Amino acid sequence: MNGDDLLALQAELGGELGFDTLAVRAGYQRTNEAEHNEAIFPTSSYVYQSAAQAAARFSGDDPGNIYSRFTNPTVRTFEERLAALEGAESCVATASGMAAIMSTCLGLLKTGDHIVSSRAIFGSTVVLFNNFMARFGVDTTYVDLTDLSAWEAAIQDNTRILFLETPSNPLVEIADIAQLAELAHQHDCLLVVDNCLCTPALQKPLALGADVVIHSATKYIDGQGRGIGGAVLGSKTLVGEEVYSVLRTTGPTMSPFNAWIFLKGLETLNLRMQAHCRNARELALWLSEHPAVAKVHYPGLKDHPGYELAARQQSDFGGLLSFELHNSSREAAWQVVDSTRLLSITANLGDVKSTITHPATTTHGRVPEEDRLKAGITDGLLRIAVGLETLDDIINDLQRGLSRLV
Ligand SMILES: *Cc1c(COP(=O)(O)O)cnc(C)c1O
Repeated sequence: MNGDDLLALQAELGGELGFDTLAVRAGYQRTNEAEHNEAIFPTSSYVYQSAAQAAARFSGDDPGNIYSRFTNPTVRTFEERLAALEGAESCVATASGMAAIMSTCLGLLKTGDHIVSSRAIFGSTVVLFNNFMARFGVDTTYVDLTDLSAWEAAIQDNTRILFLETPSNPLVEIADIAQLAELAHQHDCLLVVDNCLCTPALQKPLALGADVVIHSATKYIDGQGRGIGGAVLGSKTLVGEEVYSVLRTTGPTMSPFNAWIFLKGLETLNLRMQAHCRNARELALWLSEHPAVAKVHYPGLKDHPGYELAARQQSDFGGLLSFELHNSSREAAWQVVDSTRLLSITANLGDVKSTITHPATTTHGRVPEEDRLKAGITDGLLRIAVGLETLDDIINDLQRGLSRLV
């Protein structure tokens, strides 16, 4: 049936199918009903044709489905499609982005191991490392994302994982993935990259040498604020065996309903990312000329320290930006937030709806003031995850508050 056998088609064409083709078609096995759109399989378990087949399934001789904590056809379709997009051998889908990070830690670390992580990572990841992994004897050292010599100096004999997000949030700093992968491998470590902000539409860490890629599918992969999910991608051994065995035993698996939502998200991922990037770039330019704005953090601006690296490493500059006001008081920043009527006041990102947040009093509210300021999260900093509304409407919404500050 047309569209069913992409591998055969790929062989016939003598080359790789394009990203957008894989995003729409990879990973699906049509059922006997000849449905066009992917089916959802809401089933907890599966039946066997005979006692002998049941025995073969349980012994592993027959590779079919047993139980949806282990495998589910809808979830598998999502995994295979995302794997095709990231260029990964294996993908396991998880109940959330945090479940993806936890399962990676449980699968790849043991007591006595050590993590080196960039400082500017997702808040719950810091809590996972500091409050939970530490309890099991895995310590973490934090370094500046862009300081290669600090990464090198932090590596110990027992370091097993280098962990980072690039671009970072909210200051959108850029790390050199290829360079850090080389450093990791020199020291027998694995490089784990949380690729949530770029998605494979903009950046493919595995092709740059990373060993494992993490996603919160909750963000751009869904892109429309409908569900929580995540994924881990990498080699058959690391992800298909070590991380997968944690999943199938401990159970933070993705539900088939959510897998179906994320499948639909992947189909439009590239289109949406292009539109996010276009709006963000235009908004960054407008903000950088605004008299109330002291500084704009966006890697697509030529004065951003990561501009050239981002231009090389990513296919576009992303949908997230932040900016600092000349009036660096908390009151001024809150006034800009509270003057918006269109933008959503929320710390979420990766949604078609634009969001505005004041990091110093929300996402970084519990970070001690001295550390927060050292990390560049000042009281006058605002973050926007630029959505897909008409650009002029986003600009007009921000202008309402900004114009009062000049
Ligand atoms: C949101 C987010 C996570 C966690 O994902 P959840 O789906 O909320 O569990 C991890 N990393 C980054 C960069 C995120 O933005």
